[in-house]
Amino acid sequence: MKELILIKLGGSVITDKSMEFTVRPENIKRLGGEIKAALKVFSGAIVIGHGAGSFAHTPAKKYQTKKGLINSKSLMGMSIVEDAARQLNAIVIKEFIKENLPVFPFSPASFIISDTLISIKSYIDPLEHLLLTGGHPVIYGDVIMDKKQGCTIFSTEKILSIIAKKLIKNYKIRMIYVTDVDGVYDENGKTIPVITSKNFDQLKSSILGARNVDVTGGMLHKVEESLKLAKTIGIKTQIVNGTKAGGLMNAILGKGRLSSTLVKK
Ligand code: ADP
Repeated sequence: MKELILIKLGGSVITDKSMEFTVRPENIKRLGGEIKAALKVFSGAIVIGHGAGSFAHTPAKKYQTKKGLINSKSLMGMSIVEDAARQLNAIVIKEFIKENLPVFPFSPASFIISDTLISIKSYIDPLEHLLLTGGHPVIYGDVIMDKKQGCTIFSTEKILSIIAKKLIKNYKIRMIYVTDVDGVYDENGKTIPVITSKNFDQLKSSILGARNVDVTGGMLHKVEESLKLAKTIGIKTQIVNGTKAGGLMNAILGKGRLSSTLVKK
C-alpha cells in the first residue's frame, strides 16, 4: 500500500503569534524546501495543512466565530476570519511554488460541513484525485458551515483527521505536527518520547491548551486529536520542532530527532 504523510505546519512556526498578520517567511521557505528535499527520497504522497497563527485567530476570537452566528456582527465576522485565513494560505502557497512544490489549496468550507461541531459530510474526491496526479493538497484551519449554529471553526488537526479517516482504506498513513517545541514536554521540560492513552492521564497536567490568540486549543488539542486517531484507525502522529533546520525533513524520512510520537499502545 502506498504511504501518505499528512503534515501540519503550526501557526507558531509559520507566523509570529505575538504580532498580528506577521509571517515568518524564512521558516515557510525552509519548510517548503525540506518537503521538496525529502521527496527526493520519500516516494509516497503528502498532504500539507497549516495553522492560522497570527492571521485568523485574532478576528476569530473577536467575533467568537467558533460559536457560530451568535449576534448581529457574526456574519461579517465569519467573512473577515475566512479572509484572514485565506491570506496566510496564499502566502504559503506562493512560497511553496517558489520552492517548486506542486501545491494546490482546498478551502475546508468547500469540502466539509458540520452539525453542532461534528463533521457530518465531507467530499474529498478532488483532493484525492490531486494526490493521484502527484500534487500536494494544502488545507488550513478555517471557518466551515455548521447546520445548527450557522458556522464554526475547524482546526487544521481536525481537518487532517477527517481526510485521514477517508483515505485510510487506500494508504498507509502517518501524521507529522510541526511546532515550535521539541515535542510534548513533561513537567521538567523534558520531551516525552512516546504518548499513549495509557500514560496520557498522568501526563495531562503538564500539557497546556492554547496560549495567546489561539482559538483551536494548543498542545492539548494536538495530543487529544492524535490519540483519537491512534485509537480509532491506528495512525501514528509525530510532534516535531520545525524551527530547527532539518526537523521536518528528518521526520518525513523517518529519522529520529527530539520529538514525541503518539501511538495506540
Ligand atoms: P501551533 O500553532 O504551532 O500549532 P500551538 O501554539 O498551538 O502550536 O502549540 C504549541 C505550543 O504549545 C508550544 O509553543 C508550547 O508553548 C505549548 N505547550 C503547552 N504545553 C506543552 C507541553 N507540555 N509541551 C510542549 N509544548 C507545550
